[in-house]
Amino acid sequence: MSFQRTQEKLKILADAAKYDVSCSSSGSNRFNTTKGLGDATGMGICHSYTEDGRCVSLLKILLTNYCIFDCAYCVTRKSNDIKRAAFKVQEVVDLTINFYRRNYIEGLFLSSGIFKSADYTMERLVAVAKKLRLEENFNGYIHLKSIPGASDELMREAGLYADRLSVNIEIPTESGLKKLAPDKKREDFIKPMVKVKNEIIQYKAEKKIIKSTPKYAPAGQSTQMIIGASGENDFQIMQTSNFFYKNYNLKRVYYSGYVPISYDNRLPQIGTAVPMLRENRLYQTDWLMRFYGFDVSEILNEQHQHLDLDIDPKLGWALRNLHEFPVDVNTADKRMLARIPGLGMKSVHKIINARRFRRLNWEHLKKIGVALNRAQYFIICDSNQFEKRDLTSEKIKGLILQNSTSKYRKSLSNQLSLFG
Ligand code: SF4
Repeated sequence: MSFQRTQEKLKILADAAKYDVSCSSSGSNRFNTTKGLGDATGMGICHSYTEDGRCVSLLKILLTNYCIFDCAYCVTRKSNDIKRAAFKVQEVVDLTINFYRRNYIEGLFLSSGIFKSADYTMERLVAVAKKLRLEENFNGYIHLKSIPGASDELMREAGLYADRLSVNIEIPTESGLKKLAPDKKREDFIKPMVKVKNEIIQYKAEKKIIKSTPKYAPAGQSTQMIIGASGENDFQIMQTSNFFYKNYNLKRVYYSGYVPISYDNRLPQIGTAVPMLRENRLYQTDWLMRFYGFDVSEILNEQHQHLDLDIDPKLGWALRNLHEFPVDVNTADKRMLARIPGLGMKSVHKIINARRFRRLNWEHLKKIGVALNRAQYFIICDSNQFEKRDLTSEKIKGLILQNSTSKYRKSLSNQLSLFG
């Protein structure tokens, strides 16, 4: 295989992989300063987080962009007239090792279009990971995409060689999936997820008894949802996330705004991309559910189906629940402290620690890192200097926005001006 052909395949298959955000990707600017193989710039290097929280750079590619399916939202769909390519198993192994040796990457993110069948494709993805681990002694990070509908045996093997597995839900509702990806069924995603969840539990339990038990997908499993392709509101999206977090022990759900690329009357028109702010608000809500003790129904429900774009979801909740405030930071429990706008979990823990020694005032809170421009309307402390009383939620929101220097406020006004 010539160097040019490998480079061409890499260009096609790294480009096709960029639509999958389930490995927290971002581009790389690393150039090859020698005359070695490849130049990492624009060639699918992304970053991800390992089990222990380290940020690692990954080679992010598809095994192939041939696909037997025709999902309307996907560039790789069979009816799309694009350049196609496929790597052989050994080529991906060689690329990974070569990039690793040149210090371009610390691991591999490997996904694929479905060629022939789910098992035929999955078998090849597993073969790459297996060769890397057993033949090349590769100990870097491996994230394998699970192919919907892959058999239990292959999923079991995949987790023995990969650090993380993910299968994409793609569309938040079954009706949306039916409309845009008629070849796919919800069960095809759920089956591998259940298998991975059960294997993780079983291997962990066995490891407690037999120390030599290998690790199974130690970085867990994740998924991705495409936002804005099938008209779901934020309430439906976050309900789906909540369901998958609770039932399949997912580490992360990723939200990827759909960028209209084709004329298809089932899809939003070209030029109506999902505002980045919406993605951002969904991630914030996800964070509130996982780390701040919020139930999804507190933030989104039948009466409130869309997240506010101009304020973050915690502030939105606080403004709708002013009867819960002000909170005394010197006596409130952790749950309530976490609900104060402007307080991250780091600040919450610092407050709990610091108040063991003294009663806290505004100066202390400022030093702790509390964003007082938001928090001041919702708290009381050991000083009544800034206390604001009897303000309506509209008034508070107006004051906060007026004093906000947030980049989101800036980008919101840019985005809204497009509709002006
Ligand atoms: S199965 Fe996957 S790769 Fe194939 S068209 Fe659907 S989303 Fe794209």
